[in-house]
Amino acid sequence: MGLFDKVLKDVTKGLQDVADKAGEELKSQAEKAASDAAEQTAAAEAANKAVNEASDAMSDASDGLKSELDKLKDAVDEMNVAVKEADEAMSKVSDEDWTRAESTLERMAMDSMKDMRVCLNCDNPVKGDVKFCPKCGEKLPEKTVLELAMCPKCGKQNAPGADFCTECGTKLPYKELVEEREREKDQAVLRKWSEELPWFPVWNCGGTDYDLDHPEDNIYCFSVYFQDDERGGEAAINQYVQILKDNGFRQAGKYPSDDHLYKMVDGVCYHATTEHSFEGGKDSPNVYFILNDEPQGGFDYVKPEPKKKSGSPFGSLFK
Ligand SMILES: [Zn+2]
Ligand SMILES: [Zn+2]
Repeated sequence: MGLFDKVLKDVTKGLQDVADKAGEELKSQAEKAASDAAEQTAAAEAANKAVNEASDAMSDASDGLKSELDKLKDAVDEMNVAVKEADEAMSKVSDEDWTRAESTLERMAMDSMKDMRVCLNCDNPVKGDVKFCPKCGEKLPEKTVLELAMCPKCGKQNAPGADFCTECGTKLPYKELVEEREREKDQAVLRKWSEELPWFPVWNCGGTDYDLDHPEDNIYCFSVYFQDDERGGEAAINQYVQILKDNGFRQAGKYPSDDHLYKMVDGVCYHATTEHSFEGGKDSPNVYFILNDEPQGGFDYVKPEPKKKSGSPFGSLFK
């Protein structure tokens, strides 16, 4: 073989090698690309499947939701029908039926209250033959709530706790009892007053809700209530000022006034004041009693006579 042939052969072989190598490279690249493509396809398929499944699930869910809504709608429809039926049924009940049903209920309620008494102190209802309130110990009324609601004039059985008969307007035993109890409490306050404050005349002032407060060692406050009666309150205070004066109390000290009246007993000064009587309202007057309390300037304070000028307007010039 000549040199040319040899060179040609080598070159050809080199080319062949290069071609082979390139071919192999291409082949492996192609294989890799194919395998990548396959993987991508699988991923895409998986994704697609997932999307489909999700979509199916969504449609199932909305089907479920829809059926729930349908059920709800049915229920509402049923309810409307029931309400309509009830309305119709109600409209068929006659007034007499209602009245009968009501009076039956009323009778049942009355029956349940047959032996019931109510504590006038704490309003606790007590059943059975019981003499004292189990809640506060107050003596219970002898009469039951029904007996106290029975009209003494026309015989109507009123509802328990009523003050006046709904048939004839007569005051019922219940209210009589409540008022009597209030009067007793007020009388107890007046008794306490005459025991603890014998220096101050007890005052039968009318009104209700007497109270004798003792805010400090030597101070007492008596208060009374005139329901919606401001004139009654004012008149009572004016009356008490007069009672005090009739019982030896008088104005004293540097600033004499009917608002502060004093009386000396065995060397002790007793002071009654109406200065603050209406601070809680004219219908709720009070009087303060202060023990051992002399007025400013002293109980026996005497206003000095004004100094007389000498007869001559020039007197002072010639002294
Ligand atoms: Zn009680
Ligand atoms: Zn009556």
